[in-house]
Amino acid sequence: MKKIIIAIDGYSSCGKSSFAKAIAARLGYLFIDTGAMYRAVALFARQEGMIKDGKINEKELISRLNEIHLSFHYCPETQKSDIYLNGENVEKLIRSMEVSRYVSSISAIPEVRKFLVSRQQQMGMDKGVVMDGRDIGTVVFPNAELKLFMTAAPEVRAERRYKELRAQGSSVSFDEILRNIEERDRLDTERAVSPLRQAPDALLLDNSHMSIPEQMEWVMKLIKERTQE
Ligand code: C5P
Repeated sequence: MKKIIIAIDGYSSCGKSSFAKAIAARLGYLFIDTGAMYRAVALFARQEGMIKDGKINEKELISRLNEIHLSFHYCPETQKSDIYLNGENVEKLIRSMEVSRYVSSISAIPEVRKFLVSRQQQMGMDKGVVMDGRDIGTVVFPNAELKLFMTAAPEVRAERRYKELRAQGSSVSFDEILRNIEERDRLDTERAVSPLRQAPDALLLDNSHMSIPEQMEWVMKLIKERTQE
């Protein structure tokens, strides 16, 4: 069976990563969560004191992008790939509300996008990858064999995120999460460089009322067609 690239784009917190991960596990493909890469850059900026009073020192961040080394390593305990920033596992740190608050501003910086897009393209060079993000089907892999665009109602997405964060012991409120999701959607779709868009050849998946097994059945049929061509 031929190996393909599966690009999954869409709005924040609509289950892209969980779905992409499940598809990758089923096919034995590499799963790459590009949102984690943008989050790790945001964390780096924060840790290095480049964010003060909500303002990002873009000039300094751009000049120090070469200090950022990102890699993914499989963790047998959690059975998923964790992201490492300069050798440190930052999977938990990048999921905080604090990082969520400024990651969309960081990802609107053209130099940051250029830096990460080139790494993502290298990771997918040999195909056999499922990559999720905002610009995978439009910019990173415009020739991907299968492109999905995922969405769900903002309240449904906020509810899922709320449960996730609560389970991790966070005391964040539902309203705060909903506001953050809506704000990130706005910033992601309105930014000048690589805004979030459904590629013309991407298939729309609204999973507001779909279970993971239902989504899986739907996508496996599509993958079968694409890999047998
Ligand atoms: O996917 P996740 O919600 O973790 O992504 C965090 C943020 O990173 C998004 O809100 C978006 O601003 C940015 N992002 C992006 N392009 C990607 C992946 C994520 O701009 N390919």
